[in-house]
Amino acid sequence: MADCLEGDCLELKRKRVEQTKSIPAYETLLNIFERLMDVTAEGIDRVRDQLKPMPLSPYMENKFQEGLPLVDRKNFPVSDEAFDDLLDLFFSRLEGFSTAIDRDLKVLAEKRTDGKISGKRLIDQFVMGSETFLPYIFELGNINSHLLFFVLRSIFKICLIPFQDTLTEELMGLWEKGECPICGFPPDMGILRGEGGKLYLHCAICGHEWKYKRMACAFCGNDLQEELKYLEIEGDEVHKIYLCHLCKKYLKVIDSRSLPEGFHIFLDLEELTSLHLDVIADQQGYSPGINL
Ligand SMILES: [Zn+2]
Ligand SMILES: [Zn+2]
Repeated sequence: MADCLEGDCLELKRKRVEQTKSIPAYETLLNIFERLMDVTAEGIDRVRDQLKPMPLSPYMENKFQEGLPLVDRKNFPVSDEAFDDLLDLFFSRLEGFSTAIDRDLKVLAEKRTDGKISGKRLIDQFVMGSETFLPYIFELGNINSHLLFFVLRSIFKICLIPFQDTLTEELMGLWEKGECPICGFPPDMGILRGEGGKLYLHCAICGHEWKYKRMACAFCGNDLQEELKYLEIEGDEVHKIYLCHLCKKYLKVIDSRSLPEGFHIFLDLEELTSLHLDVIADQQGYSPGINL
């Protein structure tokens, strides 16, 4: 399963965004999220001919069985040029959103001219994994790095669509890591689904969901029960926070069994609108899996 980016689910997702905007603290954030949703749908149309489902090659299968994620430079679905087109599209559609964003876009345009930001460079950094990609984008200068992260995440979500259905159930059963089997990045949310509440992790970048051990830290793999803690939120059956005393990271978790029947959950939206959980975890001295 992956995030809803186009098709029938988008209408429901839009409605949910509108409802959540009634909370004043989220209004600006959700306006940007909504704009990115629209541009993502437009971006998918732009590069659709490059987004054909990616069949599992023997090379990919071997790599996967060795514990490496599916994507790399050899099979990156979208060309460097198409990635540059997507950057142009996102930057142009964000113009006029606010003075602060316009100022950032100007800085980013300069960095594109001097070659610091290009499809090729960003893809190269990305396929090397989170250890190099995240610091790289956060060192790009005096800009709001969150905004750049949101834009790039939207673009990579588009580029990784071809992998979302590549893995068979059988192969997925072999993946025991806390990193995404498609892109190798850590999760930003977890969700308990089905009878007994199996834990699924949600990739912070591509939105892919995969099953993980319920009683282990998604970030360091620690499964010593005395080093793990689960925080319940008073008066809230749906949200929980999983804390790991060893790596000092936390995971926000939704218990979908406590949601009303038929309620469709959008984890990318949930991640954004559960800042109260981040505040609680932060107060206790824990950091998120992806540190922005
Ligand atoms: Zn991923
Ligand atoms: Zn840990």
